[in-house]
Amino acid sequence: METLANYINGEFIPPKSGNYMDVYEPATGQVYAKTPDSNSADIDDAVQSATAAFETWSNISRNERSKILHEIANGIESRMDEFAEYESRDTGKPLELAKSVDIPRAVTNFRFFADHALEFETESILDGNGSINKVVRKPLGVVGCISPWNLPLYLFSWKIAPALASGNCVVGKPSELTPYTAFKLGEICQEAGLPKGVLNIVHGSGQNTGSAITSHPEIKAISFTGGTKTGETISRTAAPQFKKLSLELGGKNPNIIFADCDFDTMLTSTIKSSFSNQGEICLCGSRILVEDAIYEKFRDAFVEKTNALIVGDPNDDTSKLGALISKEHLEKVLTYVALAKEEGGTVLAGGKKTSINDRCENGYFMEPTIIDGLSADCRTNQEEIFGPVVTLIPFSTEAEAVAIANSTDYGLAATIWSGNPDKANRVADQIDAGIVWINCWMVRDLRTPFGGMKSSGVGREGGDEALRFFTEPKNICMREV
Ligand code: NAD
Repeated sequence: METLANYINGEFIPPKSGNYMDVYEPATGQVYAKTPDSNSADIDDAVQSATAAFETWSNISRNERSKILHEIANGIESRMDEFAEYESRDTGKPLELAKSVDIPRAVTNFRFFADHALEFETESILDGNGSINKVVRKPLGVVGCISPWNLPLYLFSWKIAPALASGNCVVGKPSELTPYTAFKLGEICQEAGLPKGVLNIVHGSGQNTGSAITSHPEIKAISFTGGTKTGETISRTAAPQFKKLSLELGGKNPNIIFADCDFDTMLTSTIKSSFSNQGEICLCGSRILVEDAIYEKFRDAFVEKTNALIVGDPNDDTSKLGALISKEHLEKVLTYVALAKEEGGTVLAGGKKTSINDRCENGYFMEPTIIDGLSADCRTNQEEIFGPVVTLIPFSTEAEAVAIANSTDYGLAATIWSGNPDKANRVADQIDAGIVWINCWMVRDLRTPFGGMKSSGVGREGGDEALRFFTEPKNICMREV
């Protein structure tokens, strides 16, 4: 059994406490590795090494930093298949998805910020009375990056890359459920020539390692992606210390389907937005709002296509859904199906745990599930499930669709399907969400702001927003003599 190590000051070292946690392969239900459960002593070491590295890293040229980030991207790309296998083993997601989405996007994140940091501009303002204001942006120092299990390297690198590109040193923690690609990232950093201490990767639970990061007085900012409850806990610790906070939290995204949409394109995309990555993407559309006129047509076609999806061994090319992340999470998702039935819902497809033969017989697999007949305000339609479960809700007017869409505490993403651009834009304008897709889903330009409203988060990632978050502006006002 492999034992993982922390990556601190450019070296792989064991946790000081000697404590480890089991790492499970969700597709088999078997433990395949041990990962450190680090504590504040390990975080102190990581912060110390990051602090020592900051002077040099923040002062080398942007070009130098950019070159090293490109080397990291190249290093991951050269081991694409290997990293995809690690990611699929840790998460239970189809290998094909890890190969086509997760790892390529991690490569792109490093490349994008390597280049974008070179183009990042600061303002200078002439006041008309002989004064010039020059705004300079300085890196913050040591920052903490904490990421979840659903898109492990993809989301870890989405934070680390802009933090490093703008001259900060990082103490990062991946999810304890999916530590492997972050562990291997240490090797890539060594090969890429990233100076020691610039990036430190410390493994462990949220309770021990995560809280040691958020409470550390020398860590100037926390960039966090995960659940809304965890976001609240982190805020309670970090806010009184006046740390900068970027919180990317949960969602309950509406997918609004008008009768005048391109039905076939919508249907194909809705299958993806419902069940990609077993529905474990914060951007999945979990509440499908369908205009009355096509409700039956949509329901029947959607159920048929969903029933045809293959849930199987993540290593098989035919598998469209793999395993859920853990036994506990599978049980939680099944509890929501039971709740939906209690709330008066009808299960139209799926609804059950499913078994896969051979090596996957003890894995955490579940059928893709569709439920209708629920009120928009019931718990099933208000709480994040984060699994392969969607609900169908009919609506008759634009106003009703907007009201239902906005009726949850969340505001991360929304999708609108309509052949009428005026209507689609009018509705998009009224939806409380950080991102609204019209006639598409998951189309991302990394320059755009990314994040949620309401309980889906605070702040934005992506493009200039991320570089602004990881820097502090200083205005230098000079009067011409
Ligand atoms: P989680 O909140 O349980 O854990 C996320 C990370 O926080 C993990 O690394 C965990 O160890 C750490 N953590 C837990 N408790 C902590 C604490 N007290 N202090 C510091 N760190 C702590 O979330 P999860 O189950 O890993 O991920 C699923 C959630 O993430 C879902 O709610 C999903 O919607 C959300 N998510 C949001 C986005 C987004 O961009 N908005 C993207 C992906 C996932």
